[in-house]
Amino acid sequence: MSFGGHQGGFNMGPTSVQANAEAGLPFAQLPEGFLEQIDEVLGREPNHPEPDVMFSHSAWDRRPFTLRSFLGPHAPWLLMALLLVVVETGLQNLGPLLTQVAIDHGVMAANTGVLVAACLGYVGSIGLASGASFLRLRFTGRLGERLVYELRVRVFSHFQRQSLDFFTEEKAGVLMTRMTSDIEALTVLFQEGLVNFAVQAMTLVVITVYLLILNPTLALVCLVVVIPVNVVFTLWFRRVSRVGYLRVRDRIADVLADLSESLAGIRIIAAFNRQGHSTARHDRIVGAHYEANLYTGRAQALFGPGTEAIGIAAQAAILLVGGRMVLRGDLSIGEITAFLLFLTSFFAPIQGLVQLYNQYQQGSAAVTKLRGVLSTEPTVAEDPTATDLPLIDGHIRLDGVTFGYDPDHLVLREVDLEILPGEVMAVVGPTGAGKSTIAKLITRFYDPTFGHVLIDHRDLRGTRLSSLRNQIGVVPQEPFLFNGTIRDNVSFARPDATEGEVLEACRAVGLDDLLERLPAGVDTPIHERGSSLSAGERQLLALARAFLARPRVLVLDEATSNLDLLSESQIERALDTVLEGRTALIIAHRLATAMRADRIAVVESGRVVELGSHDELVDLGGRYASMYETWMTHAEPDPGTL
Ligand code: ADP
Repeated sequence: MSFGGHQGGFNMGPTSVQANAEAGLPFAQLPEGFLEQIDEVLGREPNHPEPDVMFSHSAWDRRPFTLRSFLGPHAPWLLMALLLVVVETGLQNLGPLLTQVAIDHGVMAANTGVLVAACLGYVGSIGLASGASFLRLRFTGRLGERLVYELRVRVFSHFQRQSLDFFTEEKAGVLMTRMTSDIEALTVLFQEGLVNFAVQAMTLVVITVYLLILNPTLALVCLVVVIPVNVVFTLWFRRVSRVGYLRVRDRIADVLADLSESLAGIRIIAAFNRQGHSTARHDRIVGAHYEANLYTGRAQALFGPGTEAIGIAAQAAILLVGGRMVLRGDLSIGEITAFLLFLTSFFAPIQGLVQLYNQYQQGSAAVTKLRGVLSTEPTVAEDPTATDLPLIDGHIRLDGVTFGYDPDHLVLREVDLEILPGEVMAVVGPTGAGKSTIAKLITRFYDPTFGHVLIDHRDLRGTRLSSLRNQIGVVPQEPFLFNGTIRDNVSFARPDATEGEVLEACRAVGLDDLLERLPAGVDTPIHERGSSLSAGERQLLALARAFLARPRVLVLDEATSNLDLLSESQIERALDTVLEGRTALIIAHRLATAMRADRIAVVESGRVVELGSHDELVDLGGRYASMYETWMTHAEPDPGTL
C-alpha cells in the first residue's frame, strides 16, 4: 500500500493522492511535499507480501514430533553446514601440528626457512578457518531462524485446529508456555546447539586422529583414561537431567498459567481482597520452579567440573608417560609439546560438549512437551471425505441427540428438535439444563455422542467445518472484542467489507449514537476486550458483527448482564433487524425475548419438555406457563432462576 504511489515501483495504479482525492479522503489534503517524503520512505521499505498461509482442518503433518522428523526436510542444508564445520575444524587444529614441525624441524634443526614457513602456515590456516566459520555461522543462523519460524506457525495452527474441549482442559498459560518458553528452549538448540555440537564432536574426532598419527601409544593412554569414565558420567547425567528438565518445563508452565490467570482475574482478586492469597499461591508455584532449577543446577555442577577433573588427570598421565618416553629418547620435545597442546584443545570440546549436552537435554524436554501438544487430535475431526455445505436454507434438525462433555455425565438426552428455515426459536430453562450445549452442537463445536445434527438434511459430520461456520453466525453471551478499532471488530468475519458496509451494520443495530460520540468514529480503538464500552454497547457491537457477516443461521446467547432499560430496548430493536429472514436459535434469559420468538423450547435436565408458541405454551399450563405467571407477578423476570 502506498500513500502517494510509487512511479515505476510496485504500485502501478493511480497514485493514492489521486485515489484519495477521488474518494474524498482526508489524505488528499496532505501537502504534496510531505507525500513525496512518505513515498520516498515507502520506496525504500521492503515490500512485504501477504503471507501465503495454508490452513486445513483435516490435512496436516501427523507424524510424531521428533527432532529427526522436524529436521529431516532440512537435511541438505544441515549437511552443508556440517561440511563447513569439517573444513573449519580441520584448519583450526592444524596449529599444534605446525608447532611440532616448527620446533623439531625449525628450532632444533636450526632451519629458519622451515620455522617461518610453519608460522606463515599457522596464520594462513587460522585466516581460512575464520572465513569458513563466518560462512557457517551465517548459514546456520538463517537455518535456525527458519526452523523456529516454522515451528511457531505449526504449533499456532495446531491450536487453531483444536476443538473447544482442548481449551477447556488445557490451561491457557500452559499453552502459552508451549508457544513461548518451550520454543525458546529449542531456539537455542537450533541456532547454536546442533551445529556447535557437530563442531565440538568433529574437533574431538580430528584431534584424536592427529593424536593417533603423532603417537599411537600416548594417544591410547589418553583415550583409556578419558573415555570410559566420561561415558559412565554422561549416562548418569543423561538420566538425572532428563527427569530434571522435564520437571522444569512443567513448573515454568505452572508459573505462566498462574500468571495469566491472575492477570485475567485481577479485578475479582482486588474486589474480594484476595491479593495476599494469590501472592502466596504464586510464591508457592514460583518456589516449585526454583526447586526444579536447583535440582538441574546441582546435576550440572557435578557434571561440568567432574569431566574437567578427568581431563586434568589425563594430562598428568600423559606428562608422566610421555616424559619418560622423551627421557628414553622415544619421543621428541616437539612431539610432546604438540601432544600437550592437542590435549588442551582435546578437552575444550569435551567441556563444550558437556554444556551443549545440557542444552540438548533442555531442548529435548521441550520437544517432548511439544510432541504431547502436537499429537492431540481435535475431537471434532473433519472427515477426509467431508464436503462443502452448499448455500443453505437454514433448516436445522436435532435427531435423537444424546451428549455429555464427559461420557459418564450426559447433558443432553434424546433431544429431537426442528427449526424451520426463517424461524426464530427461543430456548428457555433453568441454568445448567443444557441450552448452551444445544447451541454448541448446532455450531459443531462438539459432536453428539449419539444421534445426528442436520442442517438442510445433511449430517454435520460429513460437512467441512469452514463451509458450515461461514453460514452460521454466533453471538455469545459475553461477546469477545479484539484489541483494535470498532471497524476491525465489526468486520471481523468479513475483513474485506467496505467502510460503507461497516457503517450500515453499525446503523442497523443502532450504534450510530455511539459512533457520533467517539472521537474517530469507527476507527476509534477499543481497549482490550472492549473494557472501554458498556455491556449494552459490547452486545450491540457483536450484533453488528453478525449483521455484517450475513449468516443464514444465527445462534445467539442472550446477555444476562443487567442492561438498563434503554439498552434493552435498543438491543431488542437491533435483534429484530439482525434476525429478519434468518433461522435463529436464541438462548433467552428474559421472557420478553422468548415471547417474541416464533416458537419456544423449554429445556430441563437435558430434555426438551415443552415446545410451542408463547400462547400455546401458556394454554398448556406447564413449566412455561408457571414461569410466565411468576414473571407477570414479579418485577424481575428471570427464567434462569425458575
Ligand atoms: P445452560 O446453558 O442451560 O445453562 P449448559 O448447556 O451450559 O447449560 O450446561 C449443561 C451442563 O453441562 C451443566 O451441568 C454444565 O456444568 C455442563 N458443562 C457445560 N460446559 C461444559 C464443559 N465444557 N465441560 C464439562 N461440562 C460442561
